Amino acid sequence: MLKHACLLMTVVLLAYLAPSARAADDEKKPELKGHVADPVKDKELLDKLGASYPLKTCVVTGKELGEGAVSYVYEGHLVKFCCPHCPAKFEKDSAKYLAMLDEAAKKANKPKD
Ligand SMILES: [Zn+2]
Repeated sequence: MLKHACLLMTVVLLAYLAPSARAADDEKKPELKGHVADPVKDKELLDKLGASYPLKTCVVTGKELGEGAVSYVYEGHLVKFCCPHCPAKFEKDSAKYLAMLDEAAKKANKPKD
């Protein structure tokens, strides 16, 4: 019986400690695959895709791309965000957001009948 109680306490203690350990992880700067578009290095991409970018809103938050907007290069894609915090959120679920972008581009480029 005493053994059980001890085990239970360990489990409770671990459950209690785990969330704080995870929170500390989140504070670390996430390693991102993409980077903020460089006007010189990414000029070609910005010229090509920037002009025909299908969205006027941030793909992550849906907010309008205002003054703080960020142009981001991710695996050859140009993605625009409302603020510098969005790229990290984007990369956590990039496939979903790229699909949304793809869909928007298709609609924007749809030839008129
Ligand atoms: Zn944002």
